[in-house]
Amino acid sequence: MPELPEVEVTRRGIAPHVEGRTVTGVILRHTGLRWPFPDNLDALLRGRVIRAAGRRGKYLLLAFDHGTLIVHLGMSGHLRILPADTPPQKHDHVDVLLGEAAMRLTDPRRFGAVLWHAQEEGAVDGHLLLRSLGVEPLEAVFSGETLYRQTRKRSAPIKQVLLAGNVVVGVGNIYASESLFEAGIAPTTPAGRISRARYERLAAAIRRVLAAAIERGGSTLRDFVGADGQSGYFQQDYFVYDRAGQPCRVCGAEIRQLRQGQRSTFHCPNCQK
Ligand SMILES: [Zn+2]
Repeated sequence: MPELPEVEVTRRGIAPHVEGRTVTGVILRHTGLRWPFPDNLDALLRGRVIRAAGRRGKYLLLAFDHGTLIVHLGMSGHLRILPADTPPQKHDHVDVLLGEAAMRLTDPRRFGAVLWHAQEEGAVDGHLLLRSLGVEPLEAVFSGETLYRQTRKRSAPIKQVLLAGNVVVGVGNIYASESLFEAGIAPTTPAGRISRARYERLAAAIRRVLAAAIERGGSTLRDFVGADGQSGYFQQDYFVYDRAGQPCRVCGAEIRQLRQGQRSTFHCPNCQK
């Protein structure tokens, strides 16, 4: 599943090809993904200029003067820029035409979303899907203090508080496990019991882990352009994620796996307390 770094790399990949461009049409090859597509999307966007390609959490936000097109990649979706006359494959559900180019959304499992938020409904941050999102981990407002203040009354394990996304957004399963390892915090620790100093370490770890993933993804940017491009959900060398039974890269102890909610958590019982 694309996590925040993959979505941010997607944003950076498409931005130079869509910003300032006029939409010349929209082709829908299905009735919808997770939700039905907005009515009359072609009429709504045709002749309109994409002002900016932004992101909030894992939502891509294509800003127009009269509203925002919200795109979520779901479990398996990806966006590419390719020649508009490229024959569609089975799971190519949406083309936003930009003259001779098209921004094409491919989503085999159809858990993604394409939604419209009209300007007259107010700022897009107020959209039902966006309004309760936590702070952006890569923005200056995010700090250990943010985590500390917002978790004083939380008895839930820190891993689950991170995944919930209402304190800090976009720290999914992989990056939560990796950040907690780097900060030396056991994933089962009640969020309300973690000190300010340890949250400072965790916030720094979250920033570093996400930034490193985005940087690694930067090498795949050219793959967002071209008919055969596979936008990269890049593999990387993890410290704990998906390494159950293998030795910790720091101390050599065996990496353990446990279930929290419906998700697997990986941790080093020696490095994380
Ligand atoms: Zn270890």
